[in-house]
Amino acid sequence: MPPKQKFIILGAGINGLSCAYRLHQRYPDAHLEIISDRFSPDTTSDVAAGLWEPFLLGDTPTELVRKWSHESYHYFHDLWRSGRADECGISLVPYVAVTAKVDGLEEPIWKDFAFGYGELSAQRLDELGREHGVKYVSGNEFVTFTCEPTRLLQFYTSALQRSTGVTFRRQKITTLGEILPAADTVPNAIVINCLGLGSSQVLGDDGGSLAATRGQIRRVEAPWMFQVLISDAGYVIPNTGAVTLGGTKQKGDCDLLVREGDSEGISRGCCALVPGLGRAPVVGDLVGLRPTRSSVRLELEWIDGVVPVVHNYGHGGGGITLAWGCAGHVLSLVQPLINGPGSKL
Ligand SMILES: Cc1cc2nc3c(=O)[nH]c(=O)nc-3n(C[C@H](O)[C@H](O)[C@H](O)COP(=O)(O)OP(=O)(O)OC[C@H]3O[C@@H](n4cnc5c(N)ncnc54)[C@H](O)[C@@H]3O)c2cc1C
Repeated sequence: MPPKQKFIILGAGINGLSCAYRLHQRYPDAHLEIISDRFSPDTTSDVAAGLWEPFLLGDTPTELVRKWSHESYHYFHDLWRSGRADECGISLVPYVAVTAKVDGLEEPIWKDFAFGYGELSAQRLDELGREHGVKYVSGNEFVTFTCEPTRLLQFYTSALQRSTGVTFRRQKITTLGEILPAADTVPNAIVINCLGLGSSQVLGDDGGSLAATRGQIRRVEAPWMFQVLISDAGYVIPNTGAVTLGGTKQKGDCDLLVREGDSEGISRGCCALVPGLGRAPVVGDLVGLRPTRSSVRLELEWIDGVVPVVHNYGHGGGGITLAWGCAGHVLSLVQPLINGPGSKL
């Protein structure tokens, strides 16, 4: 009997657990080991506002961003339709974005498949501009999903924990070499690298300029808020448990401490959009480091010609939006290794 297939997944953020879940669905008899130094609710993914919208993805090819984000959009829709929205933290919400910048908003690459996309009329821009005290030049609206990452991560964790073939190991990895000898002794092992920003410490310079883009947000209790609002001043993103107000994007800044000045700026910006948010009880201020890169790295690498490693990291400000689609891409890279004609395993 051939040895059992083994997957070693590095990282337990949204990308690691989406890959683990999809691999487990496809190969239920395989042994799956998830190795990470932090688990939910302590990952960057837990800090994300959870809005479905591709953001800060560098020069990732447009057709890939469209493919991955489209697959995730469908997936959120399926979860929502099938009665799993509450368990997975999914909401279907209207979205409005406006800008006063002369160049206006870029035409979104996904406008043909997201529900109800349209540009705001001059009259609507005037109305919103009067409310916010700004002269807007362009805006758009559509219907999107928010996905509260901690709930989705916990949904995956519970599903995986119910299976006997899945193990979780808490370990800080300093080099890929620590994992590879173990993988090397198991002839059927495939490593999936979803370490996010941690990839820069573990792999060194990968040529993609992987770096942190600091994001600070505030969570408030505003159960009356059911609309995503985005402007030059800030963003308001309702989730099932709380509403996220944001936010900063400070490139190359790795400071995980909450800054009072950022909190004040976020509150001011969001209250200019909806003054009532100033009365909403604060749940907490949080900071996360987005893993920004020249482009998402999703490819297969053979280490020493023997151990296949699928890299899946560098999702910038769009990891929640892309994770399900990227995990599907990982499956397509893994499948030929397992039963393709050129299988080396
Ligand atoms: C403020 C903010 C708001 C955001 N809002 C959104 C949004 O609305 N929509 C959206 O799509 N995206 C959003 N993002 C981006 C999103 O959070 C990231 O793209 C996503 O979390 C990346 O997921 P990941 O699984 O690749 O990385 P992570 O969540 O960082 O997971 C990496 C995992 O690897 C582990 N790890 C790392 N290094 C090591 C090591 N050396 N040894 C062992 N384990 C290690 C970590 O412990 C963790 O478990 C936001 C980000 C921030 C900061």
